[in-house]
Amino acid sequence: MALLLPTVAVETLLDVTPELLASMGVDTVLLDVDNTLAYHGSQEPFPGTVEWTHELRSRGFRVMILSNNFAKRVAPFAEKYDLPFLSFSIKPLPIAYFRAIHKLGARREKAVVIGDQVFTDVVGANLSRMKSILLTPRGEEKGFSIRVRRTLERPVRRRIARQSEKKGGDV
Ligand SMILES: [Mg+2]
Repeated sequence: MALLLPTVAVETLLDVTPELLASMGVDTVLLDVDNTLAYHGSQEPFPGTVEWTHELRSRGFRVMILSNNFAKRVAPFAEKYDLPFLSFSIKPLPIAYFRAIHKLGARREKAVVIGDQVFTDVVGANLSRMKSILLTPRGEEKGFSIRVRRTLERPVRRRIARQSEKKGGDV
């Protein structure tokens, strides 16, 4: 189970404050795209998320987009944020995580992966020994494989919810 558990779980990206990141001891943020910055396949950023990345960068955080989707989808999207990116990352394999860290001149111990999926974003972060923040999925999800993954995620999300209740707040 430890491989499946994020360091922290919150609702949306905007719940991830610079203070939260600082309390986690990170200075580098690797961002998922689909269901993290926008609805799956949409080129329309979730409201406030462009400003969120600008704010982090103005405070000295390194920020990069790390997506399993294709360059055709990710490149124009990353341009809207003016962020460097890696597409077709094959998360949860650690290769792209380490490439991102190398490109940013960052350190693994000070990096956090933010995304909406346990079996890609979180597992990859744990395999790469990075921290992770799991977001709550948004919007309707129609594909067969995503629905299977969401079903498999359920025990993990239940566990997070129980831990959160015990602590009286976020994990
Ligand atoms: Mg995603």
